[in-house]
Amino acid sequence: MKSTYDVIIVGTGAMGSATAAELSRRGRKVLCFDRFEPPHNLGSSHGLTRIIREAYYESPKYVPIIQKAYENWEKLERDTGESLYLRTGGLMIGPGESQLLKGALLSAQLHHLPHEILDSRQIRERFPAFHPDSDDIGIWEPRAGILFPEKCIEANLRLASKHGATFHFNETVTDWEASNGSITVNSSRGIYHADRLLLTAGAWLDQLLAGLKISLKVERQVLYWFGAKSNTRYFQPENFPIFIWSYDHDRIFYGFPDLGSGIKFAKHYEGVPAHPDTINRVVGNEEIESMKALIRRWIPDAEGQLLSTSVCMYTNTPNLHFHISPHPLHERVLVASICSGHGFKFASAFGEILSDILENKKPAFDLSLFGFPGLLPK
Ligand SMILES: Cc1cc2nc3c(=O)[nH]c(=O)nc-3n(C[C@H](O)[C@H](O)[C@H](O)COP(=O)(O)OP(=O)(O)OC[C@H]3O[C@@H](n4cnc5c(N)ncnc54)[C@H](O)[C@@H]3O)c2cc1C
Repeated sequence: MKSTYDVIIVGTGAMGSATAAELSRRGRKVLCFDRFEPPHNLGSSHGLTRIIREAYYESPKYVPIIQKAYENWEKLERDTGESLYLRTGGLMIGPGESQLLKGALLSAQLHHLPHEILDSRQIRERFPAFHPDSDDIGIWEPRAGILFPEKCIEANLRLASKHGATFHFNETVTDWEASNGSITVNSSRGIYHADRLLLTAGAWLDQLLAGLKISLKVERQVLYWFGAKSNTRYFQPENFPIFIWSYDHDRIFYGFPDLGSGIKFAKHYEGVPAHPDTINRVVGNEEIESMKALIRRWIPDAEGQLLSTSVCMYTNTPNLHFHISPHPLHERVLVASICSGHGFKFASAFGEILSDILENKKPAFDLSLFGFPGLLPK
């Protein structure tokens, strides 16, 4: 059977849109599906802002890929004329022995990244909104900042469209088969054929794995925007960088300056398990009170009026790294779960990396942390 497309992409969120842009730029015939119309607020890529940072506490192995991502986000800005990144610098705060501080320092030192170590008094002097404990320390990295996720996805979709990609939005892929060197994809509206298939369906990915056993757990996450209670100017980007705070033995919350919608805060992990089709999108009073308690303790001037909330989904692998692998039974099918709550910043790099894999090229980065080319243990 003659395939109509070179590649079909299922899921055109952060990763799918970046790969669609890159593959179509390379002259590939690409068909993209999404069950909604991206960018939308029902998956993992909404909420106005995402952190990008380089002194990666999760593992120094990510750093070369982040550096590629910075390069590619800048290229996307040039190619589309959009402003997608705001440099605010980034502060990791907490006890020196926390995973966050130890890990960020390790990445900074191993990769010779510009950084400063601040004691509690220096943090207060430079960023008066923060009230760390007297023995907390901070690691300041100047290149960290904010990506605007909806605008990033839009920019990639525009680029993909310019290079001839086809989009079928509001069309859900139900299943697929691989046979005789071709892939057949069934959707709510039709049957399509391609040489290769990329599955980047985010929180819905495990519905499309056709026997591949990877353990992916979807976790509900809440984003909160608060108005300042006092000292409004403390929360402007020049006084309030993106921050990640480690407290109570490696629990984490993080936040963003006020860019017009309020000061944004969220917890990292600790969310309840969820199913993407039935997730509770109502935020309860108890959840709000729990976030307020953190703000009161560490950033008291930010505990003003709650302006808005949003519910989003993490898709977590067991080791909280990403999962990238060819389907073990169908090598023309590439499976990518690039989330575990920290994937967005990488999308511009993975657009290129996934395109290379789909074109049978050796990836330019070490992906072994993500199970590629083997599989993660279940
Ligand atoms: C609250 C929150 C905060 C985060 N903060 C950060 C951060 O600060 N920095 C950072 O780097 N990362 C962060 N992340 C992680 C990051 O946002 C994710 O890694 C990234 O959005 C995942 O992109 P994706 O393409 O895998 O998923 P998505 O962007 O959700 O795309 C998946 C797409 O697949 C579509 N789809 C699903 N099933 C089907 C189907 N059967 N047929 C057709 N289409 C389908 C969906 O509609 C969706 O559009 C955060 C995530 C959340 C939820």
